[in-house]
Amino acid sequence: MRIDILTLFPEVIKPFINASILHRAQQDGHVRFFVHDFREYSEDKHRRVDDYPYGGGAGMVLKVEPVVNALRGIDPDHEAVRILMSPQGLVYHQKKARTLAENTSLLILCGHYEGFDERIRDYFDMEVSIGDYVLTGGEVPALVVIDSVVRLLPGVLNNEASAVEDSFSEPLLEYPHYTRPRTFEGKKVPDVLLSGDHAKIAAWRREKALERTKKRRPDLYEAYRKKENS
Ligand code: SAM
Repeated sequence: MRIDILTLFPEVIKPFINASILHRAQQDGHVRFFVHDFREYSEDKHRRVDDYPYGGGAGMVLKVEPVVNALRGIDPDHEAVRILMSPQGLVYHQKKARTLAENTSLLILCGHYEGFDERIRDYFDMEVSIGDYVLTGGEVPALVVIDSVVRLLPGVLNNEASAVEDSFSEPLLEYPHYTRPRTFEGKKVPDVLLSGDHAKIAAWRREKALERTKKRRPDLYEAYRKKENS
């Protein structure tokens, strides 16, 4: 997969994509990142990309020209799925990550300032929010999307099963995990996990996943039950 990221702060994006699993995913050829400072596409001699809002009001607005110039330079034939990070977009979830992971090319714009010129929306395929709160810029939201998508690409995780068993892979939260030591401050690892009986372990995990989802996310539990009964 190819992922282009348009940002005013490449220094925020680069350390994250060059660490851990995303770094390895690049080395193994599963993903290629291209980080663009779209200030370079400004027609202004001072490379400004923001301006005052028509009609007045607080804050600055991201201008349309630098963004559209960048899109035309980077993705002239509109081959990538273009994603605008925005708190006004549809709220992101695992199902969306799975859909995005099926594409060969994504392009993500990280906004900044009070907002962006409304006409920018016309050049994007979708608007994505990572939740009902407002951040200063789209970099962290873009990294959320990137991380969740790249770990789903075939071959990226060592253990393919772990992406399948993650919380939300079916509409359930994941079961509890334990590792050594067997006892810590009197808290013991459940016996079943030491039994070596794979069927019993699978059944225990299933039960715990259901129990946990019902308690923590009754909304997901209800959706799961409806799906099971349909
Ligand atoms: N005034 C804008 C509004 O109410 O929609 C918020 C602008 S915010 C300060 C600046 C940028 O950060 C946005 O353009 C967007 O790219 C990004 N951003 C902030 N919160 C976000 C969220 N929850 N999800 C996705 N992007 C977000």
